[in-house]
Amino acid sequence: MTSHTQLFINNEVSSFHLLHQSLTIFQYVDAKSGETLSIYSPHDESLVVDNVQVAGQADVDTAVAAARAAFKGEWSKWTGARRQQVLLKFADLWEKHAADLGAWEAKSMGQPISVATSLGGMCASIFRYYAGWTDKVLGEQYPENEGIYKVVQYEPIGVCAGIGAWNGSQLFFAMKAAPALAVGCTFIYKGSEKSPVGLLQLGELVKEAGFPPGRHEKLIRQLLGVVNIITGDGRAGSVLASHMDVNKISFTGSVFAGKKVQELAAKSNLKRVVLELGGKSPSLIFEDADIENALNHTSQNFLFNTGQACVAASRTFIHESIAPRFIEQLKARFEGFSQTTGSPLDPKTFLGPLVDVKQFERVMNYLEIGKSEAELVTGGTRKGDTGFYVEPTIFLNPKDDARIYREEIFGPVITLRTFKTEEEAVQLANDTEYGLSACVFTSSMSRGLRVAKQIESGGVNINTSQVFQLEAPFGGSKQSGIGREGGKQGIMHYLEPKTVNIK
Ligand code: NAD
Repeated sequence: MTSHTQLFINNEVSSFHLLHQSLTIFQYVDAKSGETLSIYSPHDESLVVDNVQVAGQADVDTAVAAARAAFKGEWSKWTGARRQQVLLKFADLWEKHAADLGAWEAKSMGQPISVATSLGGMCASIFRYYAGWTDKVLGEQYPENEGIYKVVQYEPIGVCAGIGAWNGSQLFFAMKAAPALAVGCTFIYKGSEKSPVGLLQLGELVKEAGFPPGRHEKLIRQLLGVVNIITGDGRAGSVLASHMDVNKISFTGSVFAGKKVQELAAKSNLKRVVLELGGKSPSLIFEDADIENALNHTSQNFLFNTGQACVAASRTFIHESIAPRFIEQLKARFEGFSQTTGSPLDPKTFLGPLVDVKQFERVMNYLEIGKSEAELVTGGTRKGDTGFYVEPTIFLNPKDDARIYREEIFGPVITLRTFKTEEEAVQLANDTEYGLSACVFTSSMSRGLRVAKQIESGGVNINTSQVFQLEAPFGGSKQSGIGREGGKQGIMHYLEPKTVNIK
């Protein structure tokens, strides 16, 4: 694949001749802002790529105008079956290029290539899943009442925007773009400034999949702009969130920025907002749990993506009767995984670096703070002296108001506490402003379900962790978010119900 560092704004037509002349269409464009950014490897701090174009206000305006023109054109009027063909082709192309696309995440944010490539496969599945929905959203009909019949139809909401975090840049694009496109919306995505380049390559696949297959000028102009991919930091995100011609925004990122997006949406045009935000998820390990399974999930699964996962169970509570042995074994496993670092491009690497110097300094700061707030069991330091590697770290018995226990660290750092009773375990689990995910390890299914019911979070995993099941809704309660992605709920946000009364 060619390496693109320009914005993919899908309506820039440079020369255009009908009949005997070929068409030249520029979908990749330099930013009008004149601003660029450089990406450095978190593995060895070398330059990965520079001259990555950064969208400013004028670029966002162009992308929104392109998406609006496309929405008024053919795409939303195509039959579901026709849109489905394009989405399926896009999925096939994504699967074919998953390793190349994943390599950009490995180089830019240090995600191990094995993880990045498998996430690419997941993105293809997401497009296939939502391709299946293109012709399956039904309306409703109500009985006649005082001579009035009612028909409710669900219509595409219009121009939609997505903003994503860096820890799964391509995954967040797929979770937002696939349902939006399936129902006929048009789409603009702003990836994270920390790992934007893999996303920009998707523009090639958009072209090849047939999103703009036009045969004459009118059709081309109407189809261009269905998918637009831009990059930039919070400033470009703010422009999208406050844009008067964006109908819906789906945001994945921190609680802090999510609140800003909600505020900007309310202050501009009341665009619909879905927020997928942070977490400080609990894991409860009861005395009757399968210990080997609980240890696997608390070590290997927790350290997946170097702990940079929104659903990572970073507050683990262990029944006091099994705690000493469990902690000893967990310590040994963390120390074992410390040996699995290496180049993110090496398929054998399990533990990559943190995404960049800013995140590294943030995590190192928490490690220092933690040493006075809790007992350090293992880790607590940088690993090596190049790149942004951190030793997998366990803190035991944090103070109740400890920052490492209350705040999302987003790194390979876990806090452990013990509990005596089920009631106490539930109380500890819920004592947080977050509510994204939770784990319960027990061999008693009645206890598992009873505890799951009491936990305040968008999802609960019994005897497992980090589960992503596409057909079910995913999202947070409390300050972990608003709305859901995934499944049918993930598609309904891109539709506006319209009631038609008939006399
Ligand atoms: P972040 O909030 O700093 O940035 C996320 C995105 O928002 C980026 O694209 C950024 O450029 C943009 N942004 C920043 N400020 C903005 C503003 N004022 N207006 C509009 N856009 C703005 O988060 P991050 O550091 O990239 O990601 C880590 C966070 O994301 C963690 O809190 C993590 O838990 C969360 N996250 C949540 C989920 C989920 O599904 N719930 C998934 C992954 C990550």
